Amino acid sequence: MKIALFLDVDKTLTREFIQQEYAVKLACEKEYKKIEDAFQQNAAQLDYSSTFGEKIVELFKQNKFRRDQARSFATEVRVYDWTPQLLRLPGVDVYLVSSGPNYYVEYLAEKYNIPHDRICCSIYEFDDQTAVIQKCTFPVDKFEKAKFVAKRKDKYDLTIGVGDSPEHDGLFLNHCTIQLMTRPSPDKPIRDYIYIPDLNSVIRLVEGLSQSLVSVDVEQGPLWPKLRTLTFAGWGIVVGTLLAFLTIGLAIGEELGKR
Ligand SMILES: [Mg+2]
Repeated sequence: MKIALFLDVDKTLTREFIQQEYAVKLACEKEYKKIEDAFQQNAAQLDYSSTFGEKIVELFKQNKFRRDQARSFATEVRVYDWTPQLLRLPGVDVYLVSSGPNYYVEYLAEKYNIPHDRICCSIYEFDDQTAVIQKCTFPVDKFEKAKFVAKRKDKYDLTIGVGDSPEHDGLFLNHCTIQLMTRPSPDKPIRDYIYIPDLNSVIRLVEGLSQSLVSVDVEQGPLWPKLRTLTFAGWGIVVGTLLAFLTIGLAIGEELGKR
């Protein structure tokens, strides 16, 4: 039984936008906020490469952002309490699916021993002479994230996607068997997702599924024949785990509806 976890990074694993944390360090947070707000509000219309990546580079270049700072600031980006445990979960292949910068996402992957071929992120380059940031050579947008997941999902019996934004993560979550959203939608909950209160819910889900499916034949192959071989108790745990998550989603949805 092979399970994959496809995780968005910005505000799913980290507390703030990664580039925002860098902007604070470079003392240009105000200018950064204007660019980020425009990107978040108009994500459907804006072209990532020409609007966001390039504008960030322009701003950071003005503030002489260097390669050595890219690395040292990475250690100070704040993550959620459950992020380290989630990234160290045994028995699952963890993927990072992010529009965030390689100078942070690669650091995170190295720290938690996530292989290089399991990360998707935007690539930024620094000048060889001055070491100052130069350009975004490979911008990753929501379509690139979806392509990355689509190419890899068939290797697994079960795929779990976790994101915080229907706009930025919805497309890649669509390729996953179970689609989890960490942040309630501001307007109304969207039926497609299971809303979760924190990343511990993902940890518990994976642990529950791993335990219930541990006795199933571990050879590679489609999920359905394996599910058919489950005992009654095994089914109970699978269905129970999924129901628990649906209940969490409904409870949050109801709460939002009252507001
Ligand atoms: Mg995000």
